[in-house]
Amino acid sequence: MTTIDTDPDTGLDPLEFAVTRNLAAKSAADRDAILANPGFGQSFTDHMVDICWSVRGGWHRPRVSPYGPISLDPAAAVLHYGQEIFEGIKAYRHADGSVHTFRPDQNGRRLQRSARRLALPELPVPYFLQSLRELIAVDGAWVPSGDDQSLYLRPFMFAKEAFLGVRPAHKVAYYLIASPAGAYFKGGVQPVSIWLSEDYSRAGKGGTGAAKTGGNYAASLLPQSEAYENECDQVVFLDQDRNVEELGGMNVVFVYKDGSIVTPQSDSILEGITRDSILQLARDRGHHVEGRNVSLDEWRQGVASGDIVEVFACGTAAVVTPIGVLKGRDFIDEQPTGTLALELREELTDIQYGRAEDKHGWLYRLDA
Ligand SMILES: *Cc1c(COP(=O)(O)O)cnc(C)c1O
Repeated sequence: MTTIDTDPDTGLDPLEFAVTRNLAAKSAADRDAILANPGFGQSFTDHMVDICWSVRGGWHRPRVSPYGPISLDPAAAVLHYGQEIFEGIKAYRHADGSVHTFRPDQNGRRLQRSARRLALPELPVPYFLQSLRELIAVDGAWVPSGDDQSLYLRPFMFAKEAFLGVRPAHKVAYYLIASPAGAYFKGGVQPVSIWLSEDYSRAGKGGTGAAKTGGNYAASLLPQSEAYENECDQVVFLDQDRNVEELGGMNVVFVYKDGSIVTPQSDSILEGITRDSILQLARDRGHHVEGRNVSLDEWRQGVASGDIVEVFACGTAAVVTPIGVLKGRDFIDEQPTGTLALELREELTDIQYGRAEDKHGWLYRLDA
């Protein structure tokens, strides 16, 4: 049981989580074997957190329980109408053994924005933060200590009411699970190749593009397969005016010859916390940073003329990834490669892993 005082901003008392230990928890040896080579999203820790919500009862029955299958009524609304949202955030082990996460208040607020768009209840940010601490309290040993390793935390929320009528569900569940993650790129960061999706979009004006919801990912799977068929790693989407949006799960950033940095901004793009942090670090270095529309033509012409000197993608899972090639149905544009993307990547991960001073107060300790 973690003890936290009443939240000064919201006046909320902390939840009292009922903790049931997993009697079949992995042995230290089995866990270490997994942590030696965790991959991504394949193994899960011994416990999970859930909190129920209902129209009548609000948020209730907070629990920490053994990780395992969820029992759902076949009529649960999420299975039919996709009323679901999620988050992605990492826990990092510092050299002194302590466990920290990065700007979790931002993830908590984004979960609330996603909830609003999907007509789900908003989990108070203090409850969100407490859920992370509760899981680390029982599964802290699962935070790996190797280079570029982390414990990937996956909060999610879905409509569990058994009802086939179409309306926001009256019963909802919030869950948190965790999965140890290794270095995303084995053998160093390699530039990725990007397929331009011309036939499919991921979001539309007024749609759910700015929400972190499974439906956006469902819509991206077919174009992503098209990318693989065209020997590309990832897909990039355009909006209805042929402006660049983002990749399936990463934001895009352009670096110009004069040092200015531009990133697409619109209500159909997911606002990444990695991007926001990287751009702040760039501003700290004196770069001019702008969020605005970037058309496909501006991208292609900027690369051709040498105006654009670097293009990269960013998100929690892979942090920062240079874009090496943009491939369309009838063109292949090699992308210029600079050093800024990898410098910013290092600066960010140095903060996350406690190797550099946290000037912006971005770290949040989870294990104390
Ligand atoms: C999560 C996500 C991102 C990256 O956001 P971060 O907060 O940086 O992890 C970008 N695009 C989409 C579609 C996403 O779902």
